[in-house]
Order: sequence, then C-alpha cells, then structure tokens
Amino acid sequence: MFNLAEERPFHLQINIAAAISVVILLFGRLLQPETGGFGSPSHLASVGLLCICWAVLVRTRRDVTFRIFGLLGIVVCAIAFRMLLSKLAPHGDYWRFLVFALILVHGAVLFSRIRDYVVVAMLSGAISFAGLGSDYFAAAGYPEFVIATAAASVIGVMLNIIVMSSYKRLYEAKEGYRLLSSTDPLTRLLNRRAFMARFAELRIEDSALPLHLAMIDLDHFKQINDTHGHERGDSVLLAVADCLQRHVPGMAGRLGGEEFAILFSEGSRSEALQRLDTLLTEVRMLDIDGVSLTFSAGLVTAGAEEEAGLALARADAALYQAKAAGRNRIVSADVAPVSRDDNVRPFPRQRVPAE
Ligand code: GH3
Ligand code: MG
Ligand code: MG
Repeated sequence: MFNLAEERPFHLQINIAAAISVVILLFGRLLQPETGGFGSPSHLASVGLLCICWAVLVRTRRDVTFRIFGLLGIVVCAIAFRMLLSKLAPHGDYWRFLVFALILVHGAVLFSRIRDYVVVAMLSGAISFAGLGSDYFAAAGYPEFVIATAAASVIGVMLNIIVMSSYKRLYEAKEGYRLLSSTDPLTRLLNRRAFMARFAELRIEDSALPLHLAMIDLDHFKQINDTHGHERGDSVLLAVADCLQRHVPGMAGRLGGEEFAILFSEGSRSEALQRLDTLLTEVRMLDIDGVSLTFSAGLVTAGAEEEAGLALARADAALYQAKAAGRNRIVSADVAPVSRDDNVRPFPRQRVPAE
C-alpha cells in the first residue's frame, strides 16, 4: 500500500516550502514600521508551530501523522499569512490572492489522496478570504476573482494528480523490483539472499532473540524429476512450499533447488523440533499425483553473536548427518541427535550418495 510518509520522495520540497514560509513570516513582521522588530507572540507562535509541523513531516513514517501534520501546517500557514497581510493593510490586500495560490500549489505535493487536498484547499481558501467585506472583492473584480480562484484550484488539483501518480508509479516499480530480487519466482518464498538478510536484521533488532534455523532438503528429488518429469518436480516444490507456510509458524525460504530453510524466532528449540516433526509427517502424507515424498533436515540454534552464514553452515552439516543416517529424519545439532530410528553420529560434510 502506497504511503507517502514512508516513501519520503519530497523532503526537498517540504524543506524549501517551510523555510520560505518562515522567512516570509519573519520578514513581513520586520517590514512593519510601527513595531520595528521581531514579531508579536501570535506571529512567533505560528512560526514555531510551522517549524514543528515541518520537523514532523520530514521525520514521520506514519501515514496518519503525515496527513494530520500536513493539514495542520497548511492551516497554520494560511492563518499566519492572513494575520500578517491584515497588519500590512492596505498593501497586504494585494498579496492575499497570490499567497492563497502559493499555499494551494504547496499543498498539492503534500497529499496523496485528492480528497485530503480538496479539504485543505477549501480550508485555506476560507481562512484567506472569510470575513473580507464586499469592498475587497469588488475592488479585485468579482469575475476576475472567481476565474483566478478556479484556475489556481484546477492547477493545484492537476499538480496533485500528476505528482502523486508519478510517485505511485515509481513506488510500484520499486516494489516490483524488490519482490523480484527477494523472492523465489516458483514458490514465492524468500530467496536465499532475502532469507539471510532477514536473519541478520532480526539479530540486529534483538541479539537476545532465540533463533532456531532449520535447513530442509527433499530426499531423492532427482529421482522424482527423472521418473515423473520436471513439471511434476515443480509441483512437488510448490506443494512443499505450501505445506511449509501452512504448518510452520517461522519464516520460510527456498535456498535453491530442493533446499528450503525455516527460521523460528519464537519458542524453544524443542518446540521448533516439534514443528519440524509435524511438518515431516505432513510432507509424508502429501499425495502429488502419486509421488511420495520425504525430507531430511538439520536444526541448530544460532548463537547471539553468530552470523547467518555460519549458522546456515552448521544447519547444513546437521542436514548431511540426517542424510547419512538414512534420510527421512531431522537432526538437531548441539544436543542429543534426534532420529526416527537410530542414533545419528557426527558426519563429515560431504555429498551423501543415494542408496
Ligand atoms: P538427496 O536425497 O541426496 O538430497 O538426493 P536428491 O536427488 O534430492 O539431490 P540432488 O542434488 O542429486 O538432486 C537435486 C535435483 O533437484 C537436481 C535438479 O535437477 C533438481 N532441481 C533443482 N531445482 C529444480 C527446480 O526448480 N525444479 C525441478 N523440477 N527440479 C529442480
Ligand atoms: Mg539438495
Ligand atoms: Mg535432495
């Protein structure tokens, strides 16, 4: 879902617009001969409020906060300029419409929803012109005023549509590339790179998090391909990926070929082992057009300082122990080996021939 605050494509616009507003407000105050100095409390308050809105807009990543402070910023701007221009009367009146048009254009790049923008445009119009006597409009000329307001509003709405649709296109393209580079095209699970990156992120977020890593390799998968064809092999991979997602609460990834990985970031290792055991039972019960299936798996608990690559290598070693012990089982390393039938002994990492 497109979130303008999250995307932050326009820091520069916000900074420039806010800085210009603050400078004009302060400068306008200095222009008043009767005060001859920096502003009244109300002017300084509006400049302060504007600065707060500006800081929040630049920092927040929450859509609702961004919308509220965007609206507040525009309203404060309109009120502050109205106060300033009324103090600069009669010359201030000449600037009223121009300031209103500038606020409209400024607001056009702040709101991703046209509805928000229309509300803001109507509010700033009301603040800028409400209560001005008919003399003001008569002096400006009614038709001219209506035409100019309509033109400024149309330009603002068009600008909003153009800017936001290009941001959205950019966002969609970025999302597309992100998905393409982080997921496996067949199963839609995370690919190796994204899986490892997520592991590292979780470690950085909380070094005390218990991370149990399981590496899973389908048994005799080549035979399935050779006997039933590559397409059936793909269906098997899809069915296993589906099974992983349905029966295991951890984060699942396809590391390549017929190798999968699961990262459990909650619970104890024995719970993770229990889940894997359930998964093995489920995979055994899968019936993919007559193909029966088992897997071997290695499970390790990553140390608080352990890198993802190292933990994966240990899980891989445990997996090969499972293969060497006859496949169709799970080996949990660093604790008593878990096996379906016999006790598994440490096994050097190497390719285990099919029996
Ligand atoms: P083991 O029990 O020792 O793991 O034996 P295996 O046959 O499962 O392992 P091996 O490494 O010999 O074979 C893996 C096969 O997986 C070989 C390759 O053709 C197949 N494979 C890799 N990627 C895909 C894929 O995306 N689709 C299909 N259908 N097959 C794939
Ligand atoms: Mg393999
Ligand atoms: Mg295999």
